[in-house]
Amino acid sequence: MYKSIIIGTGPAGLTAAIYLARANLNPLVIEGPEPGGQLTTTTEVENFPGFPDGIMGPELMANMRKQAERFGAEFKTGWVNSVDLSSRPFKLQVEGMGELVAESVIISTGASARYLGIENERENVGRGVSTCATCDGFFFRNKKIIVVGGGDSAMEEAHFLTKFASEVVLVHRRNELRASKIMQDRARSNPKITWNLDKTPLAVEANGMGVTALKVRNNETGEDELIETNGIFVAIGHTPNTKFLGGQITTDEQGYIIVNPGSSETNIPGVFACGDVQDSKYRQAISAAGSGCMAALDCERFLEA
Ligand code: NAP
Repeated sequence: MYKSIIIGTGPAGLTAAIYLARANLNPLVIEGPEPGGQLTTTTEVENFPGFPDGIMGPELMANMRKQAERFGAEFKTGWVNSVDLSSRPFKLQVEGMGELVAESVIISTGASARYLGIENERENVGRGVSTCATCDGFFFRNKKIIVVGGGDSAMEEAHFLTKFASEVVLVHRRNELRASKIMQDRARSNPKITWNLDKTPLAVEANGMGVTALKVRNNETGEDELIETNGIFVAIGHTPNTKFLGGQITTDEQGYIIVNPGSSETNIPGVFACGDVQDSKYRQAISAAGSGCMAALDCERFLEA
C-alpha cells in the first residue's frame, strides 16, 4: 500500500514527486511510454526560469527525476491499464506489475500529439512525418515542408520552421484559421510561409526513402491534388491521456480533467490532477511544474486530514 502514486513523469509529475518525497511520503512514480514527457522531444528550452543560457529538454527532465530520487521517490516503468477509484484505497491495474494500491493518486499523464489518421501517415513517422517542429525541423534545412493545422500550434510551428526550410506551406482544412489574431498576423507576415487553405489532407505519399508529397482534397473544386514535400508537420492539437480512467474522473468534452478552481482536486477526494492532462490552455513546462507542486501540497493536506 502506497501513501501516494503519481502517474506520469513530465514536469508536473516530477515536481509533485519532489515535493511529496521531501515531505517523507515516499511516492511511487509510474513512468509510462514517454518518460519525461513532451520536453524530452524538444531541443533547447529557453523559457524555463533559472537557466539563463537555456537547457536541453531531456537534461532538464533528467535533472528533475534525479532530484525526486534524491529525496526518496521510487520509480517504476509501466502502463496503467485501468483504475478503480470507487473507494479508498484506490486500485491501479498496471501492466507487468498487477494491482497497486494507494491512499491517494496524482494524475499527471499529460497530453499526446494528435495525428490526422490518414493513409500512410503512421508508417512515415520519423521518415518525414513529425508532430514536433522543434525536434525535427533541423532535418529539413533548405527543403519545402508542410505544416497541417489552423490553430496557434500550426502558426507557431510554421513560423519556427521557416528558420530551416526554404518554404513552409500551411495546409488547413477550412478557409478560416482558428489561431489567435496575433499568431495569424505573425505567420501571414512571414514571406517564407505560403497558404493552401480549404484543403483536406487525404494521404501521405512516400517512396521507400521518405515522404514525397501530401495528397489533399480541394474542398472548393472537389478535386484531389498533390503538394510535393519532404516533410509534413502535423500540428492539429493534443489529446489528453485520460482514457485509462474509464470515465471515473470528470473531464471536459475533449477529455481534459476538470479540477476545482485554484486547486488540483478532481471530483474524487484523494485523486489530484496536474500538468497538461488538466490544462489545454497554458501547456507550458513551468505551469505544469507549478501545478505539480499544487497537487503535492493538496495531496499532503489530504493525507494529514
Ligand atoms: P487547436 O486550437 O485545437 O487547433 C487545431 C487545428 O487543427 C484546428 O485548426 C483544426 O481545424 C485542425 N484539425 C484538427 N483535427 C484535424 C484533422 N483531423 N484534420 C485536419 N485538421 C485538423 O490546437 P492547437 O493549435 O494545438 O492549440 C491548442 C491550445 O494551445 C489553444 O488554446 C492555443 O491557443 C494554445 N497554444 C498557444 C500558443 C501560443 O500562444 N504561443 C501556441 C500553441 C498553442 P478546425 O479549425 O477546422 O477545427
